[in-house]
Amino acid sequence: MPGESQTTTAAWRGLLEPLRAEPARAAILTDFDGTLAPIVERADEAALPGGAREVLARLIDRYAMVGAVSGRRAADVRARIGLDGIAYAGNHGLELLLPGESEPVPDPSVGEREGDAAGFVGSLDLGRCEEAGLRVEDKGPIQALHWRGAPDEGRAEASAREIAVEAGRAGLEPHWGRKVLELRPVGGGGKDAAVASLLAEDGVDRVVFAGDDRTDVDAFRRLEELREAGDLTAAVRVGVVSAEGPPEIAEESDVTVAGPAGWLEILTWLAE
Ligand SMILES: [Mg+2]
Repeated sequence: MPGESQTTTAAWRGLLEPLRAEPARAAILTDFDGTLAPIVERADEAALPGGAREVLARLIDRYAMVGAVSGRRAADVRARIGLDGIAYAGNHGLELLLPGESEPVPDPSVGEREGDAAGFVGSLDLGRCEEAGLRVEDKGPIQALHWRGAPDEGRAEASAREIAVEAGRAGLEPHWGRKVLELRPVGGGGKDAAVASLLAEDGVDRVVFAGDDRTDVDAFRRLEELREAGDLTAAVRVGVVSAEGPPEIAEESDVTVAGPAGWLEILTWLAE
């Protein structure tokens, strides 16, 4: 069960000491929903917990890079965090909004497949989705179907599974998250690619990344590859565990915490 195998404070401090010792060579990367911000019934109400913005602002001043890697649009995450000094990788890495920039840069690999997911969702019987309790969220190249808070979440999820099969046949990539199905164009993006492109910055050789869901495991794996290849001297993967999150979050992380409050405690220490 989540929470039973939480890493001790002494253990995570030991793993993260190389970052705190040389902040000019360190990157602090984090997912947003379920990691920085607690999961809420309506995704559009997600917000930072009290004190988190001040901690992040201190991290920006101190570390080579602070990055937010999210399934949301980059501009959406920037608006919720409210800090310009963070590099925002949005839509699971399909767009990048760097500090000081006003517009996100789309991943060029998506190219002409940009409208595939929207075209597929447009072809669905939206009455059927609504009846099953699925809410469609238009994220440009990615279309999301949510069922958190549906009158019958089980029925809504079953309906999402049928749609995922159809989407696969239509040439899209279905990705599952916490009570959400995302339909993405084939190729490009992924949080694995997002962390790699953020870390391509000169002089950064140590990183911590925290996440709570399946797409974050992609980033965990890429970070481990970069560490094994010698591109990183330290890659600390923090799994924010929850009852509804996938087991890989605890299995493939170096540090586990029980929720966003545990991650904020780590960030606060890094900022001291
Ligand atoms: Mg998350």
